[in-house]
Amino acid sequence: MRAVGFRRYGGPEVLESMSLPRPRPMEGNAIVRLLCTSVNRIDTLVRNGGRNLPLAMPHVPGCDVVGIVEEIRGRSDGVSVGDLVVANTLYGCGGCASCRNGDEVSCSRWKMVGVDINGSYEEFVRVPTSTLVRPPGLFSAEELAAMPISLSIAWRALRVVGKAKRGETVVIRGASGSSGIFGLLLAKAMGLRTIAVSRDAIKMKKLREMGADIVIGGGETEAGIADTILGATDGEGADIVIEPFGATLAQSIRLARHGGRIVVYGALAGAAANIDIKQLYLKNISVAGTHNSSRGELKEAMGFLAEMRIRPVIAKVMGLEEAARAHSLLEGGRCFGKILLRP
Ligand SMILES: [Zn+2]
Repeated sequence: MRAVGFRRYGGPEVLESMSLPRPRPMEGNAIVRLLCTSVNRIDTLVRNGGRNLPLAMPHVPGCDVVGIVEEIRGRSDGVSVGDLVVANTLYGCGGCASCRNGDEVSCSRWKMVGVDINGSYEEFVRVPTSTLVRPPGLFSAEELAAMPISLSIAWRALRVVGKAKRGETVVIRGASGSSGIFGLLLAKAMGLRTIAVSRDAIKMKKLREMGADIVIGGGETEAGIADTILGATDGEGADIVIEPFGATLAQSIRLARHGGRIVVYGALAGAAANIDIKQLYLKNISVAGTHNSSRGELKEAMGFLAEMRIRPVIAKVMGLEEAARAHSLLEGGRCFGKILLRP
């Protein structure tokens, strides 16, 4: 079968088209014939060796699997051969208390499709059946491929961890990233007041067009951004701050109101943050981390999109063989919305 993978770590140029044996299902796995996948930041981190994983080479990246079930071995987890499925990227050990409760995100041995095992840049993908979700009928395979990683992060950050309530104000930092865009779509549909932060003038315009209540950033200083947000919230700060950068946590603490929540889902700007602990407890702020979602949460998130008739924002659809160019585009930071790959 055709696949795109890499034999050594490096830039986009290490991605190459290759012919690999079609995977055979192992116990508890399904083989999914790929219809569409997408490119995520994590794919580029895996490719350049940033995850420090002992990968078997060649490795096939790709976290978002959308396709048709071709074979199943062992437990079916509610899906049948011939079904259209979406795979939740994260899966657990299956045996611990968290996994048995459908909370595999809290499994200490979680793994990810495309990171710990071969991923979606191939015609046939082997995934645990415990990852598979039958999606609502509204969406095309391309639209579905935009969802697993980016939607699940945004859904868990807002609904599950952030416990967002209608009428609250949310600051979405990194709003023009793929999870940020889903965050804005979800927050608007949940009835939140949205403050979108982006550093890119063209993307700021797009965020305005999407209906963000306030869009700030560009060349503004962090102090200037804080002034605007405090000014827009009667000096109180926001109920929820979505923080994908990590190193900017101190700024997020400044942006949150007393009793507010900060949800961290990344460390794009660095994994260390120098924060004033006093500001945390004197302001009664909760800081929570989140990573991917459980299968049940992805299903809920897709159901919510379908119910609210929300379509994902797609930047570009490319061929699987163009994966290297797709990685360059993503790393160049000029796309607004998801880059999809079709076999
Ligand atoms: Zn487990």
